[in-house]
Amino acid sequence: MRNNILRCLIMLVALVSAPAVSYEAAAQTRLKKIVIDPGHGGRDPGALGKKSREKNVVLAVSKRLGELIKDSLTDVECIYTRSTDVFIPLDKRAEIANKNGADLFISIHANSSLTKSVTGAETYVLGLHRSKENLEVAQKENAVITMEDDYTSKYEGFDPTQPESYIMFELMQNVYLEQSIAVASLIQKELQAGGREDRGVKQAGFLVLRQTTMPSVLVELGYISNATEEKFLTGVEGTEVLASAIFRAVKSYKQLYDTQNSPSMVKAEAQKAEEKKVNAWPEGVNIRIQVAASKSEIKVDTLSGLPVTMLEDGETKKYMLGIFTTYEEASAKMKEVKEKYHDCFFVAFDGKEKIAVKTARRKLKK
Ligand SMILES: [Zn+2]
Repeated sequence: MRNNILRCLIMLVALVSAPAVSYEAAAQTRLKKIVIDPGHGGRDPGALGKKSREKNVVLAVSKRLGELIKDSLTDVECIYTRSTDVFIPLDKRAEIANKNGADLFISIHANSSLTKSVTGAETYVLGLHRSKENLEVAQKENAVITMEDDYTSKYEGFDPTQPESYIMFELMQNVYLEQSIAVASLIQKELQAGGREDRGVKQAGFLVLRQTTMPSVLVELGYISNATEEKFLTGVEGTEVLASAIFRAVKSYKQLYDTQNSPSMVKAEAQKAEEKKVNAWPEGVNIRIQVAASKSEIKVDTLSGLPVTMLEDGETKKYMLGIFTTYEEASAKMKEVKEKYHDCFFVAFDGKEKIAVKTARRKLKK
């Protein structure tokens, strides 16, 4: 167990090294590249229906989705992690997205349940599961790594069957959470508009999402264990309904994304950030809440307008929220910050020099 936690922490360090987002780069940003990831393939059939296999269902929907994107969103490039019936390891799927600098990653799957009556579509973003049911979906999808060679060392001892392995998803800070939820919500909305039963947007620890460095979602199109839904999922009409629902969601997300990254919006954001930087290191004792640390620059979201400051400590960049000059004020905000950044903690400074929080409290009381 202790070993597991250690491993999780090692993985966490690797995780927080997300790529930098600068305002200059963002000014030219448009949603240009999408990686479509049909789950499973080759020797890994995925979930099994009475007559169908998940790997075939999701490949058909993925390819149709790609066609729709190519036809209508001409400035978007679509890259598949697989376009044929081949086995691709999970880490390779993420690597394809990362190496290509994709703006969005969509992993497509179908579900199964021992309870044959269960139906409906759901979309996952990376995070800690809130229910046993969500954990089970992630466990099932993550189990494919056991078909890969050398999976214990490749995934640093992650055991998909052990709930303890999933602790790391609690410690993890998902930089792309908000954007991923936006995509997932649009997909669910469109699937519902297409007549599918909406099981909602959920969070769980999917390994394939963990390693991507962009907004990422995993869609469970429906249950091939249910006879009616299996018929729908494997039919031409079903493929069309599902692919076009995801396509409409991608299109809406692109509109949002491109507007948000238009030069005028970016300029306004940069100005706001600049204003907040003023007096980031005032004279005297001050307390802050450290929310993240990383070797590379990362985007840290603020809460209730608290200023975000970054301090370089050797090779590590430490990100903090708020500048408080009383401990009471800092404590009052801590609760709210902790809800988003579970592992945050107080740090204290005298000017820009770091001091012990205890010392700061004593000095502030004087
Ligand atoms: Zn799957």
